[in-house]
Amino acid sequence: MRNMVIIGSGPAGLTAAIYAARANLNPLLLEGNEPGGQLTLTTLVENFPGFPEGIMGPKLMEDMRKQAQHFGTEIVSDFARKVRLAERPFRVYYGEAEVETRTVVISTGSSAKMIGLDSESKLMGHGVSTCATCDGFFYRGKKIAVVGGGDSAMEESTFLTKFANEVNLVHRRDTLRASKIMQDRAFANPKIKFHWDTAVKEVLGSRETGVSGLRVENLKTGATSVMEVDGLFVAIGHHPNTEIFRGQVDLDELGYIKTQPGTSRTNLEGVFACGDVQDPVFRQAVTAAGSGCMAAIEAERWLSH
Ligand code: NAP
Repeated sequence: MRNMVIIGSGPAGLTAAIYAARANLNPLLLEGNEPGGQLTLTTLVENFPGFPEGIMGPKLMEDMRKQAQHFGTEIVSDFARKVRLAERPFRVYYGEAEVETRTVVISTGSSAKMIGLDSESKLMGHGVSTCATCDGFFYRGKKIAVVGGGDSAMEESTFLTKFANEVNLVHRRDTLRASKIMQDRAFANPKIKFHWDTAVKEVLGSRETGVSGLRVENLKTGATSVMEVDGLFVAIGHHPNTEIFRGQVDLDELGYIKTQPGTSRTNLEGVFACGDVQDPVFRQAVTAAGSGCMAAIEAERWLSH
């Protein structure tokens, strides 16, 4: 019987582990399919406090992992394939094993949706990004493209005009899905150029030199052309990794775990959620880490009641 099982190993899960381990809760952490989470898909992280020169995303996560282990977190390189939260103790199933636990911390994160091109995954973190807040700064004075037609794409395009000279918004249809106010703001911005009925077919460039352009297709005419840009921001949505919790913990209409405002508490006593799996708004490593700390402290207090 465990005091705490943490599911997910991004900044939220590992911070929860550091706090829980230091509180002598002897946590078990299931690393999941993508150990370290979304930060392992990026290169330089310049907005995590404490690193004036920045730190590489994978290195930051490796250090957090070491820190969690240093205080006694048991880390398992497997993913939770099933949970049973209706009865106590809770039960978490992974591989051929299962574990009983008094509390569960859900930190399975979210995944950015991708277009699905080989060249896109090859250049991820090398000119392809899914986070304007994180990487916009690297494109000062440059030309970039944003893919998507929803609120995220409008918000990111508008934000990116603070840095880039030209933002090319590439959308697969001729109408936007975004709310009127966000559309209007983007239309009014002279740095944003709209490319309608257009799909990205290939991201050009190399991991060494970054992105040099996009091969795009006009979906109405079938004509292809090369758009010269220095970076591509994919803003076609995220999906929270909550499949195994569906029907057991309250989710919102987009599938994110609902937490009580200002806490990491879910609708189930003893089940806590932190990081991007419950945050469609901020999605930052530092906010995820902060909420992981909250989850561990709340779980520890709940256990000592
Ligand atoms: P979204 O509303 O689902 O929009 C996704 C966009 O990406 C759509 O325009 C879609 O095209 C396009 N798309 C999807 N898959 C694609 C693919 N494989 N290739 C090319 N394009 C693709 O996602 P979102 O913009 O991230 O927004 C998610 C939710 O968060 C929404 O409810 C939104 O209102 C909210 N949000 C709000 C704010 C804000 O208010 N500040 C900011 C961000 C997000 P189609 O239109 O053709 O389907």
